Order: sequence, then structure tokens, then C-alpha cells
Amino acid sequence: MVQTISEIEPTVGGGTARMLPETIEALERISRNYWWSWMPDGTSIFRDLDQEVWNECEHNPRRLLKETSDYNLARMATDPVYVGRVRRLAEDFDAYMSAEARTWAAEHAREISRERPVAYFCAEFGVHHSLPLYSGGLGILAGDHLKSASDLGLPLVAVGLLYHHGYFRQRLRRDGWQEESYNQIDVNDLPMHLVRRADGSPVYLEMEMRGRAVRVQAWRVDVGRVALYLLDTNVEGNDAIDQMITGHLYGGDRETRCVQEMVLGVGGVRLLRHFGVEPHVFHLNEGHSAFLTLELARELTARGLDFTEATRTVRERCVFTTHTPVAAGHDEFVAPLIEMCFGEAYWQSLGLTREEFLDLGRVKAGDDEELFGLTPLALRMCRSSNGVSRKHGEVSRELWNKMWPGRKVEETPITHVTNGVHAPTWVAPLLGSLFERHAGGDWTEALRDPAEWARVVASVSDEELWKVKRLLNRRLIAFVRDRLYFARQQQGETPEFAAGARTLFDPDALTIGFARRVAAYKRWRLILSDPERLSRLIMNEERPVQFVFAGKAHPQDQGAKMILQQMALWKLDPEIMRRAVFVQDYDQEIARHLVQAVDVWLNVPRRPLEASGTSGEKVGLNGGLNLSVLDGWWLEGYDGGNGWAVGNLTVSESVEEMDERDADSLYHVLENEVVPTFYERDERGIPRRWVAMMKHAIETLAPAFNSDRMVREYTRNVYVGRHEFPTAADSHGFNG
Ligand SMILES: *Cc1c(COP(=O)(O)O)cnc(C)c1O
Repeated sequence: MVQTISEIEPTVGGGTARMLPETIEALERISRNYWWSWMPDGTSIFRDLDQEVWNECEHNPRRLLKETSDYNLARMATDPVYVGRVRRLAEDFDAYMSAEARTWAAEHAREISRERPVAYFCAEFGVHHSLPLYSGGLGILAGDHLKSASDLGLPLVAVGLLYHHGYFRQRLRRDGWQEESYNQIDVNDLPMHLVRRADGSPVYLEMEMRGRAVRVQAWRVDVGRVALYLLDTNVEGNDAIDQMITGHLYGGDRETRCVQEMVLGVGGVRLLRHFGVEPHVFHLNEGHSAFLTLELARELTARGLDFTEATRTVRERCVFTTHTPVAAGHDEFVAPLIEMCFGEAYWQSLGLTREEFLDLGRVKAGDDEELFGLTPLALRMCRSSNGVSRKHGEVSRELWNKMWPGRKVEETPITHVTNGVHAPTWVAPLLGSLFERHAGGDWTEALRDPAEWARVVASVSDEELWKVKRLLNRRLIAFVRDRLYFARQQQGETPEFAAGARTLFDPDALTIGFARRVAAYKRWRLILSDPERLSRLIMNEERPVQFVFAGKAHPQDQGAKMILQQMALWKLDPEIMRRAVFVQDYDQEIARHLVQAVDVWLNVPRRPLEASGTSGEKVGLNGGLNLSVLDGWWLEGYDGGNGWAVGNLTVSESVEEMDERDADSLYHVLENEVVPTFYERDERGIPRRWVAMMKHAIETLAPAFNSDRMVREYTRNVYVGRHEFPTAADSHGFNG
């Protein structure tokens, strides 16, 4: 019998609840569902309860409610204005969660139901910065996917891993070298609860890995209407090494990575089976979860199907999104590691020989030289595969055409769904309220109809929009000064030098943001390639430019750390220092401050290596202007008037030549277009041409690059709609 997850697992737990005063009691309930994080008054309601504790506990409302003083609770519980705000938020929450709520999916995706949901698998989820289970773009995208599925009413169950140490925290030493540290998360302090049986005992999923039995438990996190399940091997009775499988996100060696991915894929399927759920479709968001297809096949061979029949059924149910445009970026393992982790019994249960099993992860059957790749496995076992932008679809077809020998590149069955961002999460509440006033109601609804949205944007006056942007810009400057002040104190700088952070930056200057992973293809070095020309831009007294940088280097990537250090040392030039800062420990909160406030967002990846990129989309929704290489999403978004292009589309043989050309183009556009347009003011001090571009960016980019559009497109074209492609397995290989 098929049951829905909420029927089976109604218990709410997650730390003992403190008795709150009756008038604000609803905060307890609200704090247990990340829905609050994308409501305009959600963050401020918790912050206003106790600003100091809110900051200390890094914006975790569960800890806030535990740690704030009795006096504070009593004070706020008797403040009629505050009580009214809590009541309204609680009413909105109840209406949102109500089974009667009318949603897009109830009308447009009837095939997907609570009994037959989408099962969405990903190795990282960036829901909120207080839940540190993401490293960057992939996780944030997955978080946004869940929020949009929730808003649209799309029945979706998500599966990921609970990393007890999360992703690393970054600190730069005084000499600019990155140091990493890991915190330990405390499940009792987070809005999550253990999945239990009716008798209260935890549910343990049994797995066999590395020749040992491993027990896996699961935690539930609520993201609006969506349940996110996090698998966890930190269970008593497991071997100490196995307890650490779900220790760090991308922190372990290849072997750890392999068993992590087994827990995600195999364990994830077993969890859904525990609930008796038969998903309408399994969505593999990136290859990390591709082992789930093996587990689905194993279920079927256990029922007597042969492997070929089993894969046919598995393919019917699975869809795959690839996120990487470079061969080296795809997860792969050496054969002995796969053999050791799975063990002979596993492939035997599939009715396969060792060689046949290994071939599942190879492009070419029988090629001993090839590693076991999760992307070939996913491409082979899924009925639909897609990249994350139009260009990335094209690049993926070229990259993986080899899976379909005899087919032309353009016939490679990989499509694309361009990434989008969750508008209520990323648009500044102040700007959202402006949109709401002009939309006459829920502005995110208006986003669905580009003509309606254009009307909303056109009705916003230049003055209003400009004022909001300047206010947000000031907030960013204050935030940056604060962060830098504390960073300098931590680094042991003199009190005078630390205090100097309080006066950095010019509230009226053009602010450019550059924040992303420090990876070679993102070309951080390009910005510094002509330091003198850059200094002239920054130091121009009449038309100054200031930069905010942020980003983490992978702990093992020494080259990336050197780039960071170079950046840090460059900034030590006392003149530069006033107008260029590096904010440490880039995370979702810093990203939000930046994308909501910057005037210009700079992005200079080496084409075509940016699969999509989403940070520029966040900026566009907030009326910032992108100054970016024409790659990933920007190739679709740029229309000549809503931002600027760095370089052009010509391809050159030499990497150095491309870098040089793009650097020159970058400086040229900055000097001749960006800076003059920003500083061209009318008698009221408004840069009319600039604001017109801001409006044009919001008008053209917001309807196209938000995640509601993305999830609707996945639903129509991938989950329900069927682009039937013959898959790789049909044209060659292991099972005819
Ligand atoms: C949006 C976001 C990203 C993705 O940024 P891109 O550089 O565009 O890929 C990464 N990290 C954080 C914290 C984000 O918010």
C-alpha cells in the first residue's frame, strides 16, 4: 500500500521545546520550518526578539528561542505591535501549509501527487546559512528548487546527507593564506528531527559497505511543504570510520566520497521504501546520487527480473541533471575502490559479472583504463538528461556524445533547463515591498506573466528604485565594515588598524561585487592583470570605484589559495585598501547582502566553463547590472541593454590570448561605459540612463531566471512530459 510521507511520519521533534509565552507561542512552530526564511517579516521577527542572541547564534531561530532571556520573551510577549506581527506570520504560515491551499501544481501537475511525489536527490542543500550543508552553487540551487516546489505545491521529497561538520569555515591569516576549520553541528539545536517508528525507536536502514554492515538513520527538515531527509551514519554500533562517512562535505578522500555517495543513493532509496513511497520520478541532481539507479535495479532483480528488463524500468523512472561542463569535474572512481565499497554480493544480486558491473560506469564497455564515472552511469540509467543552461546543454552534448557512438553531436539526447533562483529568498525585502505595492499584491505571481511584470516594473519611478538601491548599498557598506572590523581584531591587528575598518568605503561610489569559488576557471586573476589600470579606476577622486570580494578556495587547491593570497596582498596597498575589501567565509548570508546591494556584478569565467552560474541572476532580480563574460545563463539573459558583456563570442586557440583579450575588454567596458553611465546624473542627482538599465534588467531577467519558472519547466518537460530519447544503453554495450 502506498502512503504519503506526512501520514507515516507525523511526529514533530527536534530539541526540547521551551515554553513560550502564549502570545508569541507560534514562534515555536514557525521556527521548525524554514518557510520563515523567505517571508518578508520572517527574519526580522526573530531578529527583533533579541538582536544580540540572534547574531551570536548565527541566525538559527531554534537556538534563539532556547537562549534568549526570560525577560526578553516576557517583554516581547507584552508588546502589542510585536504580538500582532507574530500573529500575522502564524496565520500566513497556517494558510500556506493548509491542505486546502490552491497551488499551481494542483492544477498543472496532477500526475505528481503526495502518493507519487518527485524524489529529488542531491549531495548538498543550501536552504539557509544556519544549516551549513552546502558548499556553493549546486547546494544553493537545490535549496531554491525545494522552495519553489513548495511554493508551487509540487509534491516533492528531497534526500541528502547530514554532514556533522558541514562545509569548512574560512579565515585568512594576516599574510592572506586561507585556513580552514570545521564546526560541529548540534542536531538538537537545529529544526530537524529523527525519523522514528511508531514505538518511538529510530529507523535504521541497513547497508553493506566496505564489507561491513552500516546502519543509517535519517533526519527530517521541513522546507515549507517539502520534506528534506538527511541520511546519517553517525550511529552507535557503527565502526568509528563508518560513523564519519557523513562527517564532512567534500572533505574526505576518494573512498569516503564513494561511500558517502552509496549512502545517498542506496540509503536514500531504502529510506523511501521504509515510508512505502513509490516516487513518480527520481531526480538525480548531479551525478553524486547516481548509485540510486543500481539500487532500483537491485529491487527489481530481487523480484526476478533480469538486469536488462530491470534497467528498462529504472530508466522510465529516473531523470538526471548534469552540472559540470568539464570532463575532470565529473565524479569518478578507480575500479578496485568500487569493488571494495560495494562488494561482490552486490553485483551478483544484480545478476552481473564484475566486468559488467564496472561497465555501467564506463563510456566504453570493457575499457580497463577508464574509471567508474557517475555521469556515464546516470546518463545510461536515466530516461532524460539535461544541462543547466542552453550553452551547457550544447557543451554536454559534445562532451558526452561518445556515449552514443554513431550519432551526430546534435542528436545526443541531452537537453537543458536553465537554472533559476528563488525570488523571495534573494530579492531584498525592501525592494520586494516596492514590487508588491506596484503589483497590487503578491509580486511573485506577477513574475509568471512577462507582460504583467513589465507593467509592474514600468510603474516604479526612477526615484523610488534609486532610493531603495542606495539604502541597500549603505547597508552593505555597514555590513562589510563590521565584518572587516571583527576580522582584523581576530587577526590580531592593532586596535587603530581594526578601527580603520569602520571608515572604509564611500557610500556614494560605484560598488562592484565579485564573489564566487576561487577556482582557476573563474579567473580571479583577470581582474588584477593590469594593476595600474585598475588603480586608476579605483582611485579616481571624482568617479571612484570600489570592490567587494568574497570566496573560498577548495582546501586542497594550493593554486587557488595562492590566488586568494595575491588578492589579499594587493589590497594591503594602503590606497587600494580603502576601496577594495575581501569578506571572509562566503556563505548564503554574505551572498544575500552582496547581490541585493551591489551596483555591478562582475563575472569573468573562462568560456564555456560556467555551466550556468546563478549569483548574477540574483543580482539581476535586485536591479544590479551584470558585467559578465557571455557564458552560462548570461548568454541567454543579456540583451544589449540590461547589463554588459565582457569580451565576445569568438574562440581563440590560446588561453593566454583569450585571457588578455577579455581583460582588456573588461577594463575598456568599465572605463568607457560602466563608470560614465553611473556618474552621469541629472539635476536631482539621479543617473537616469543607469536606472533605466536597472529597470530593464529587472523587467527582462526576473521572469526568466527565477526558480519557479525552472521548477515549472522541469515539471512540464522532464517530470511529467517525456522527451523520449533512446538512451546510451540502446546504442552500445553491456546489455544489448
Ligand atoms: C548563489 C550562490 C553561489 C553560486 O554562485 P555562482 O558563482 O554564480 O555559481 C555560490 N555560493 C553562494 C553562497 C551563493 O549564494
